[in-house]
Amino acid sequence: MAELKNTKQRGAILRFLENSLDPVSAEDIFVLLKPSFPQLALSTVYRNLERFTSSGVLQKINFEDGVIRYTLAKGHDHYLICTGCSKKIKLDDCPLSPLELQLAKATGFEIERHSLTIYGKCPDCQKKRGTRAVVKKVERTQ
Ligand SMILES: [Zn+2]
Ligand SMILES: [Zn+2]
Repeated sequence: MAELKNTKQRGAILRFLENSLDPVSAEDIFVLLKPSFPQLALSTVYRNLERFTSSGVLQKINFEDGVIRYTLAKGHDHYLICTGCSKKIKLDDCPLSPLELQLAKATGFEIERHSLTIYGKCPDCQKKRGTRAVVKKVERTQ
């Protein structure tokens, strides 16, 4: 019974996020869903939001006012790529979401997507650079 109730609450939280254009905080969701789910606890909202975020359904945005808000993940990833060994590190969250909102407001654009990839040298490659740079060059010509 408890599980069924949780499933319903989880579904309601997700639907709420699907229907809201702007990122929303756990408190926003709590206040607006409480009338339909009198037994809903704020901690449940938090727990579900965290779960959705770690499974990649939602993304978490740290706003300048110190409030964490959530929005549906747009199914994109950002990477840090090593130009030495091609090692890829996925960024945990999207650093551009706040900028998107700001740009949308400033320019009237309806932002659809963006891409961001950061290139550099990983710690291993930085270590190798001094001694192995020559070897790398030789490998490439083969
Ligand atoms: Zn590297
Ligand atoms: Zn992004």
